[in-house]
Amino acid sequence: MTQQTGQTAIADLFIIGGGINGCGIARDASGRGLSVTLAEQGDLAQGTSSASTKLFHGGLRYLEYFEFRLVREALEERETLLVAMPHISWPMRFVLPLSPNMRFESDTPTSRLLRWIMPWARGRRPAWLIRLGLLMYDTMGGRKILPAARSVDLTRDPAGRALKPEFTRAFEYSDCWVEDSRLVALNARDAVLRGAKVMTRTRVVTAERQGDLWQITTDGPHGHEVHAARAVVNAGGPWVEDIIRNVARINSSEGVRLVRGSHIVTKRLFDHDRCYFFQGTDGRIIFAIPYEQDFTLIGTTDKDHTSAPKDAVCTDEERDYLLAFASQYFAKPVTRDDVVWTYAGVRPLYNDGAKSATAATRDYVLSLDENGPPLLNVFGGKITTYRRLAESALAKLAPRFPAAKPAWTARVPLPGGDFPHDGVADLTARLARQYPYLTPYWAARMIRAYGTDAFKILGDAGTATALGQDFGATLSEAEVRWLMTKEFAVTAADVVWRRSKLGLRMTADQITALDQFMVGAASRAFSPAAE
Ligand SMILES: Cc1cc2nc3c(=O)[nH]c(=O)nc-3n(C[C@H](O)[C@H](O)[C@H](O)COP(=O)(O)OP(=O)(O)OC[C@H]3O[C@@H](n4cnc5c(N)ncnc54)[C@H](O)[C@@H]3O)c2cc1C
Repeated sequence: MTQQTGQTAIADLFIIGGGINGCGIARDASGRGLSVTLAEQGDLAQGTSSASTKLFHGGLRYLEYFEFRLVREALEERETLLVAMPHISWPMRFVLPLSPNMRFESDTPTSRLLRWIMPWARGRRPAWLIRLGLLMYDTMGGRKILPAARSVDLTRDPAGRALKPEFTRAFEYSDCWVEDSRLVALNARDAVLRGAKVMTRTRVVTAERQGDLWQITTDGPHGHEVHAARAVVNAGGPWVEDIIRNVARINSSEGVRLVRGSHIVTKRLFDHDRCYFFQGTDGRIIFAIPYEQDFTLIGTTDKDHTSAPKDAVCTDEERDYLLAFASQYFAKPVTRDDVVWTYAGVRPLYNDGAKSATAATRDYVLSLDENGPPLLNVFGGKITTYRRLAESALAKLAPRFPAAKPAWTARVPLPGGDFPHDGVADLTARLARQYPYLTPYWAARMIRAYGTDAFKILGDAGTATALGQDFGATLSEAEVRWLMTKEFAVTAADVVWRRSKLGLRMTADQITALDQFMVGAASRAFSPAAE
């Protein structure tokens, strides 16, 4: 049974939602000197922020929708973020094979324009237009680190080997990879290091205005608790509308359009480190991305999602659609037998009344309700623009907090990211020298996940045995304890699917043993004897 406890101190900001937007705002606000409390109903990033395609990208296809502001901001962000988190993000090259059969989505502004000036093209996306788009992509965002686009002869380039012989030409361009759920955990960790209070497994049940303050009731591991705050940020992602209507109980005409995107993970389909950008005959595009060394990630779909956000799964139909789409390009057809895992997430897009799910705007909308103490509702957004979204959110709230410090997050490293953007190989070699028992895969994984913090996790352990229990797939007790104490991991799923992707390598029995260990470790930590 839950119980009511006393009212806690007044926070400047109470943030609902521990996805990338909530945690990004928490980090930014804490660094400006605001007192921040964040509540997440489940695990950090358990909503959309662990289910993305994991790209810091400008969004080449959004150029066709004339979303220039969004594309420019996202392109600019890529390198800013790369510098701040060289462990969890890295440059990637995308190979876009040219094909005469591939078509535009019919209702983009670009396709309408081309129908008018080039009716004979009948919806085909001409190569010169793609080249023009890539030229804009290269120049709009002040690119310095990432290499420029180029043409590729697929009959000679290794990227052509995995594809059907009919694909002879391609363009290749740059974007970046990011470990999405680690990005969220590291933003939360940094927020806490800067003074924020982060509560996971804590659902916000009600939020009510009382005079100049918000009174927020949560339901979490300590039962019902009441909090007071000067402003509330609703970063509930797919739940944003539910929070407006059922938690804050406000009538609003603004709504969210839930668009599901599913991915499949297959055994590795090609042996190089570049991604493919495939255009479809239906106007959509998908990516095939090298994933976790031994796998390929393929996605995504775009389907209006009508059930509860938590029920999003990759349907058989979506899986088969992705298999058929990719098989149009790969020389060896991709089949159900190749699939080892699937996941799905729901985009919380601002409902702009667009006809198709693909066409709905990907830009974010911040709506400030000032009928009393402020409520800032966050709609949409991209992983790529989370830092800029946080800055915009704080700019909106700035009149209420005149003593807050100015924007500060650009290029400031996230925990473990305090090394050069091209320094991963050196850091990995240093780790391997200091801890010779690490295999090359293990050393690389530790640096990619934790950067310079990898040295703190391994500490003075001179042998693998000194790291404690071995859970398999290079997961040690020392790492699990770090994740439990510094990154809010509570269950095995938090560790193997969100703080890492070791679930792809561990057996069901190993995951059960990890869960048992974590339950025991948590209860020992909370028992009076431990204090
Ligand atoms: C398939 C797909 C692919 C994508 N690919 C990319 C990409 O490659 N690059 C990119 O930049 N963007 C991408 N995006 C977009 C990006 O993932 C999202 O915009 C972003 O993750 C949204 O983050 P969020 O914090 O708003 O929502 P979420 O991550 O869903 O976080 C909201 C959180 O609020 C919590 N919550 C809800 N109600 C309550 C409550 N009452 N109390 C407490 N907590 C509550 C939820 O549990 C949830 O964890 C993709 C999205 C999808 C779906």
